[in-house]
Amino acid sequence: MKSRFKAILIRKDGDNQIVDDVELTPDDLMPGDVTVAVAHSTVNFKDGLALTGRSPVVRKFPMIPGIDLAGTVEESSNPAFKAGDKVVLNGFGLSEAHYGGYSELARVKGDWLVPLPSAFTTAQAMAIGTAGYTAMLCVLALEDAGVTPAKGPVLVTGAAGGVGSVAVALLAKLGFKVIASTGRPEEEAYLKDLGASEIVARAELSGQPRMLGKERWAGAVDSVGSTTLANVISQTMYGGAVAACGLAGGMDLPTSVAPFILRGVSLLGVDSVQMPKPRRVQAWNRLAQDLDIAKLAAMTKTIPLSGVRQAAEDILAGKVRGRLVVEI
Ligand code: NDP
Repeated sequence: MKSRFKAILIRKDGDNQIVDDVELTPDDLMPGDVTVAVAHSTVNFKDGLALTGRSPVVRKFPMIPGIDLAGTVEESSNPAFKAGDKVVLNGFGLSEAHYGGYSELARVKGDWLVPLPSAFTTAQAMAIGTAGYTAMLCVLALEDAGVTPAKGPVLVTGAAGGVGSVAVALLAKLGFKVIASTGRPEEEAYLKDLGASEIVARAELSGQPRMLGKERWAGAVDSVGSTTLANVISQTMYGGAVAACGLAGGMDLPTSVAPFILRGVSLLGVDSVQMPKPRRVQAWNRLAQDLDIAKLAAMTKTIPLSGVRQAAEDILAGKVRGRLVVEI
């Protein structure tokens, strides 16, 4: 194991958040029963919030940010893992209360780790990252609610973002007609290459929602929230379901009960952070089965650790297309 390793550390200076490049020793790490040599991490929307301090993601300072990591076990006293095992970790308080993935070494609880499916390299696992794993959780939620391709098309909002891009690719592969909503019309070709058959302008879904609109989709994956989610719910077909996982457009939800009590529409909340392990393993195995690796490559850009500060600003500004992998 390295006696000194590189990491990014966020510290508080009064009301300000300072992000430093640091060198640490293994003794500086938090307690845990598995030590992982981190190969790759990623930048999700939540990493953008944590790095910029725009939302109170970090609950303990100083903090190594990075809500995701993938790498190789160096040391383990957990019977489920041994040195050399490839692993992936999403959420579970990383970058909130426990040191995260922007670090060459991470010490974590083995219970948080998922064995890396053999279909993926660590770089591909982080191309998926929390965004892609959450997209899969949304797809599973829709399936559990009985949404099938025969019931009608499905909508994905924030489609050119991380959750959105993976959701479009997964749903298209599963045989759904996918309608992609984006605020970036220039990404139409990109979204169609991922499998979208129709593009809806973001503005069309972000205005004042009607209680009930025309029934347009049997299901939806929403990463935007706010008036967009309200519009999505009000235009969901009878008996349909909407998986809500995001807040890129806002935390509020100005809707009514009309779609629920008059159309039997279901609103399915999706949280990836504290999701119990069996569902995580299921989601990762389904990603290995249902995500087209060529499409994953088409939606991914790789950046060095030194690039995460700029990437944090870019993702919050809605400028990142698809997924960002961080080479540790
Ligand atoms: P990205 O920034 O990659 O994607 C978000 C997309 O939303 C953007 O690309 C953009 O898509 C759209 N968007 C951005 N701002 C607005 C706006 N003001 N109004 C409408 N649409 C907007 O982020 P991620 O994919 O990483 O995350 C998406 C959301 O999901 C975030 O809110 C994140 O916090 C949440 N999330 C939640 C998880 C959970 O456990 N519940 C896990 C992972 C993510 P376009 O340009 O195509 O319009």
